[in-house]
Amino acid sequence: MRTLEKQSIDRKARMKLEPVHKQYRAPEIRKNDYLEITPGFTMEEAMKEAARCLQCPKAPCVNACRVGNDIPLAMLLVEQGEFVRAAEVYRETNPLPEICGRVCPPDDSCAASCVLDKQGKGIDTRAIERFVTDYQRLHSGVPLPDKAPPTGKRVAVIGSGPSGLLVAEEALKAGHQVSVYDALPIPGGLLVYGIPGFKLEKDIVEWKIRWLEALGAEFITNTRIGEDISFDELFEPEMFDAIYLGTGAQTHARMGIEGENLGNIHDALDFINGANLPPSILPSGVEPLNSIGKRVAVIGGGDTATDCVRTALRLGAEQVTCYYRRTETEMPGNRIDRNYAEEEGASFEFLTAPIRFLDRSSDGHVDSMEMIRMELGEPDDSGRRRPIPIQGSEYSVEVEHVVLSIGFWADTFIPEQTEGIQLDRKGFIIVDPETGRTTRPGVFAGGDAVSGPELVSEALQLSRFAVAGILGYLNGE
Ligand SMILES: Cc1cc2nc3c(=O)[nH]c(=O)nc-3n(C[C@H](O)[C@H](O)[C@H](O)COP(=O)(O)OP(=O)(O)OC[C@H]3O[C@@H](n4cnc5c(N)ncnc54)[C@H](O)[C@@H]3O)c2cc1C
Repeated sequence: MRTLEKQSIDRKARMKLEPVHKQYRAPEIRKNDYLEITPGFTMEEAMKEAARCLQCPKAPCVNACRVGNDIPLAMLLVEQGEFVRAAEVYRETNPLPEICGRVCPPDDSCAASCVLDKQGKGIDTRAIERFVTDYQRLHSGVPLPDKAPPTGKRVAVIGSGPSGLLVAEEALKAGHQVSVYDALPIPGGLLVYGIPGFKLEKDIVEWKIRWLEALGAEFITNTRIGEDISFDELFEPEMFDAIYLGTGAQTHARMGIEGENLGNIHDALDFINGANLPPSILPSGVEPLNSIGKRVAVIGGGDTATDCVRTALRLGAEQVTCYYRRTETEMPGNRIDRNYAEEEGASFEFLTAPIRFLDRSSDGHVDSMEMIRMELGEPDDSGRRRPIPIQGSEYSVEVEHVVLSIGFWADTFIPEQTEGIQLDRKGFIIVDPETGRTTRPGVFAGGDAVSGPELVSEALQLSRFAVAGILGYLNGE
């Protein structure tokens, strides 16, 4: 293999190199389907982009990456065309690199911390991670890792989102048997039943599930723990020695205003899933959505709201507006996805919120919203300035469908069914931060169920702590 010493890098010359830009599908074409909006880098583009890396000694990108990928080493390999070796570098620290390479938010990840970002020339590290790990998967395959000799111990993972998948993989590698339970029809958590196809195509998640099955994981779907099987049953003899709770935070927040239960007012996840997923895998009670009215309002300001906006456009809505009660500065969703939404035809309105949903035609469906304008007051608990309604500023907006995307709470279903699992005041599971240990012996937790709604990379980071706790516990530590 050719090698490239870090010392031989001419940083000044590299700083002058121009970024390689990915190709994007045209907005008027991509808004007709749920396929990813960029094919990502080609081989040549990935090598050229990686060759701009300055190999910074302090590597802020590694510190910014929640799973601690050795990005400079990967860049060094990619610029030499060593794609499979670079993919292995990512896989050492990240069990889902082809997924993170697609969904990590560009403005809150390794890419945003690149020193070249100050000149607007940050290296597109996410696209490179995506390219090399796709390359390996599609060209040479991803070999199964060695497993420790069987320990005879059994681990139950509840929830098959990213955090549950990480725990399953690591427990299998350590020689334990693993069963992964999920309430939904197919495994993947929000990777399937949340993140839309235009950000992450589902065959990648399916591939990972098959890979874990080949490693020895058993997936048991359509099984809600606490309902189909009681939580305490999992601790009976011959059942499990340790349990991981990766149950996420998927309980929709509600506005608590008049008319919220009218027809054609959708919760965000039901809306995204009804539109994005084939009917055969929809959760029970979620209706397939093939088309939608002309005017759609999305209420909220996070990434999920932007995903709903873009989904409404793909369903054929002509006028899609996202209403947010603060200004764009306070908006939690990332700007880059909002740009894509605007390119696709959406608009955003700030400092405004609905106070009532109306059914003037009395057919049981929403047809307008009474809105009120806001101004910003002092910061609230979240540190963001509090929106204050401006009395007398009410106005009306005609709509045919409304999507509510105002946040998620924890699902407290399991802790309510059993003894000893303590929750914080918001309903998230309390754990020891270094081991993911809950207040009940043998039970560990991580991901959104602990942190509240976050990111895939954050869920992976928290479940990594829980893996340390589970493996130590099963070793009798
Ligand atoms: C619309 C949307 C878009 C998003 N986009 C992005 C993005 O672009 N980038 C990003 O980094 N993050 C994104 N996120 C956030 C990310 O998906 C989550 O942070 C991550 O999936 C959390 O992982 P998790 O494993 O903790 O839980 P989840 O992925 O939520 O999985 C939890 C699983 O537990 C199962 N479960 C719950 N209770 C039970 C029970 N009692 N019995 C059995 N199973 C149970 C659920 O069915 C679910 O499958 C998005 C979230 C949403 C909602």
